[in-house]
Amino acid sequence: LDAPLYADLAGDLNVSFEFFPPKTEKMEEQLWSAIETLTPLGPKFVSVTYGAGGSTRERTHNTVARIARETPLAAAAHLTCVAASKDEIAEVADAYWDAGVRHIVALRGDPPEAGKRFEPHADGYQGAAELVEGLVKRHPFEISVAAYPETHPEAVSAKSDIDNLKRKLDAGATRAITQFFFEPDSFFRFRDTVAAAGIGADIIPGIMPVSNFAAVQRMSAMCNTNVPTWMGRLFEGLDTHPGARQLVSATLAAELCRKLYAGGVRDFHFYTLNRAELSYAICHLLGLRPEKRA
Ligand code: FAD
Repeated sequence: LDAPLYADLAGDLNVSFEFFPPKTEKMEEQLWSAIETLTPLGPKFVSVTYGAGGSTRERTHNTVARIARETPLAAAAHLTCVAASKDEIAEVADAYWDAGVRHIVALRGDPPEAGKRFEPHADGYQGAAELVEGLVKRHPFEISVAAYPETHPEAVSAKSDIDNLKRKLDAGATRAITQFFFEPDSFFRFRDTVAAAGIGADIIPGIMPVSNFAAVQRMSAMCNTNVPTWMGRLFEGLDTHPGARQLVSATLAAELCRKLYAGGVRDFHFYTLNRAELSYAICHLLGLRPEKRA
């Protein structure tokens, strides 16, 4: 796919940024500094993840509520079905609604212990599609769900995974954000299959800038993301060169986004890992400037 030169990019993007709730005071400072840096880029929304097993229930709530209260940003809260009854989830949803939060990223979630299978709570939701249904009955939230260009690892087949995505959207979600991937064709193939399945909702690519290649390899193995061999070669020998690693990482992610842009993509969701600089640099390379949004 011929990608336009950087000079030709119009910066006509919609971006969103994903953060995780901080555990310590130092991490809290890092998060708020990241939010401060990225806010001028005018993200469509920012979202805050929900720890495995609901372990960050309070922290996610406090972070999202503070973003809603203290910044001009539209804040979205991730919410999962793990280890919670429908009543408990309703309570969490009510608290978000009362805090002025209008956007939920609705997920099944992963079990707290990696490698174990998801077991629904006895009085809980079986999966994200049911969760979406429960949430929209409770409040008229805007809802995003997860999608998997390279198929969710537990799915019986790629087709059944797409059927499930359709159920989530039919239940009331309006957009899907994808698991991260490293090859534009993974996204384009998925986008075509999704369209052929009659799904018209926006499918937003989730972009993971690689700040730690070994960690990304581990995560990719767990979530079925293909790490191309050439990527290993790119990060070879950079463990002791953090500066060079950052530059390589920004270049790589910007290249991916540029190719997606050439294929018509205008919405990008960045997994920031609470570090602003990489996502900021990538947005900048794609032509996004704070003054245009001010
Ligand atoms: P679901 O859509 O419920 O699907 C789970 C699996 O079940 C899939 O394999 C699906 O194909 C299959 N399935 C569902 N229904 C059926 C059916 N009726 N018949 C056959 N198969 C079926 N995890 C967290 O813990 N916290 C987070 O904050 C978080 N944020 C995320 C954000 C994004 C953008 C993404 C992509 C993932 C995120 N995750 C998060 C990870 C997510 O929780 C896991 O990938 C989880 O394993 C699946 O969640 P889901 O919502 O996609 O599940």
